[in-house]
Amino acid sequence: MKQYTLLIAGERVATSSHAEVRSPSSGDVVGYMPLAGEAELDRAVAAAAESFKTWSQTADELRANACRLLAEKIAEHAEELAQILTREQGKPLNGLGSRFEIGGALAWTRHTAELNLPVEILQDDNEGRVELHRKPIGVVGSITPWNWPVMIACWHIVPAVRAGNTVVIKPSPLTPLSTIRLVEIMNEVLPPGVVNVVTGENEIGAALSAHPGIAKMTFTGSTETGKKVMASAVATLKRLTLELGGNDAGIVLPDAEPSRIAEGLFWGAFINSGQTCAALKRLYVHDSIYEDVCAALTDYAGKIAVGDGLDETSILGPIQNEMQFNKVRELVDDARAKGGRILVGGAPLERPGYFYPITLVADVDHGVRLVDEEQFGPALPIIRYTDIDEVIARANTNPAGLGGSVWSADAQKARHYALQLECGSVWINKHGTIQPNAPFGGVKQSGIGVEFGVEGLKEFTTIQTVLS
Ligand code: NAD
Repeated sequence: MKQYTLLIAGERVATSSHAEVRSPSSGDVVGYMPLAGEAELDRAVAAAAESFKTWSQTADELRANACRLLAEKIAEHAEELAQILTREQGKPLNGLGSRFEIGGALAWTRHTAELNLPVEILQDDNEGRVELHRKPIGVVGSITPWNWPVMIACWHIVPAVRAGNTVVIKPSPLTPLSTIRLVEIMNEVLPPGVVNVVTGENEIGAALSAHPGIAKMTFTGSTETGKKVMASAVATLKRLTLELGGNDAGIVLPDAEPSRIAEGLFWGAFINSGQTCAALKRLYVHDSIYEDVCAALTDYAGKIAVGDGLDETSILGPIQNEMQFNKVRELVDDARAKGGRILVGGAPLERPGYFYPITLVADVDHGVRLVDEEQFGPALPIIRYTDIDEVIARANTNPAGLGGSVWSADAQKARHYALQLECGSVWINKHGTIQPNAPFGGVKQSGIGVEFGVEGLKEFTTIQTVLS
C-alpha cells in the first residue's frame, strides 16, 4: 500500500511515521497517511509565507489563469481522484458519489477562476477620491472534514489563491489521501509554496489553527471543533470563516403531493448517506398527508442499492467511520425506545464495514435526540404537525441554522414560510442543492461567514481604503 508524503514548498516531504487509512467498506488499509509534527507544520507555514511575498503581487489575470489550469488538472485526474476518494471515504463511484464530487470540485474551481474583485470607486468629486481595494490576507490555514473532502478542499483553496493568498491545508485524518493527491496535482501548475498540505491526527489541526503565522482560518467541520478554532484565533486575531454543523428542517405543507415530492425529499436527506452538512435532517409533515408522505418515502427508499462504493451498481455506501456509525445506531435505538416507529431500516446491516441501512423513523418529536441533534447519517426522523406557524417557530428553536426547505404545490405560499426559517440557505421544493454562484453559510451556531461567489471570495481579502 502506498505511503503518502506531505507536500511543502512544492516538494514531497517524507515523515518518520505514518498512520493507516482504512476503507469503511472492507476495513482494508488503503494507504498510509504521513504524520506531520510541529516542525513540518512550521516548515509549511514558512513556505506559504515566503511564497505569499510573490503570489500576492502576481497580476490578477495570471492568478485567474492559474486557477483555470487547476481546473484542467482536476479534469485530467478526475477518475484517479474519484477512485482514491471512494476507497478512503466509502461513497460510491456512481450516483451522487465520488465522480459527482470531483465534478463539483471542477465546477467550483472553474467558476471561482472567473470571479473578480475590481477596485471600487466610492467617491470621485471635488471633495476628493475614495477607492476600496481588496487585498489578500496572508497565509490561510484550511481544515476540512471527511464527508466531501475533495470538493471542500477546493472550496477553501481556490478562492484563497484566486484572491492572492497562500494556503496550508490539513484534511481530516479519516480521508487525507485524496487531498494529498489533489495538492500534488495542483502543485504541477502553481508556484512552489502557494498550496501546501500537512496531515496528522486532530492535534495538528489544533496546532495549525493556533499558529501565529496563519492570518486566516477557513474551517469546515463540526460546531464543537469550530468553537475551538475560533478560540485559537483570538491570540493573533485571525480572520475566520466557519462552516459548521446543521440540523436542517424540511416543512411539508398540507397541499404538497406526496408522490411528487418523495424523490426530492429522499435525496435532500440521504445524499452521501446523510453525511452532508446541509442535508435534510428533520422532516415535519402536516397531519393530513403524514401517512402518505411516509409511505411514498418508504417506497422510494426500497429502490436504492446500498453497497461497496467500488461496486458500480451501488447508489449509497457505508457510513464513513466507526464513531459516526455508533452515533447513528445510538440515535435510532434511542428514538425507537422513545416510541419511534421504524418504517424501514433501523439496525446495522450484517456485513463487514460500517453499513447502516436507509432508516425512516416516524412518530417522533422534539425531545428525542434523533430530532434535536445532528445525526449525520442515513436516518431521518419524521415529525407530525398541524399548525404551520407553530411548526416554523418550533423548527427555529434548534441552535443550528444552516439550511431549510418548504414543500408545497403553491410556490408563493412556500416562499412566504421559507423566509421565516432561520437558516443561511432555504430551498423551495428541493433541499441542499448548492451552486458556485450562490453564497452559502450558516447562521446561529452553524457558522460565521459565507463561501462561494463574489461574497465568498471577499472573505479571503481585507479592505484597504485609499483616500486622496
Ligand atoms: P470534526 O469537527 O470532527 O473535524 C473537522 C476537522 O477538524 C478535521 O480535519 C479534524 O481533524 C479537525 N480537528 C479536530 N479537532 C480539532 C481541533 N481541536 N482544532 C482544529 N482542528 C481540529 O468534523 P467532521 O466529523 O470531520 O465533519 C462533520 C461535521 O462537519 C458535521 O457537523 C457537518 O455538518 C460539518 N460540515 C459542515 C459543512 C458546512 O459547509 N457547513 C460542510 C461539511 C461538513
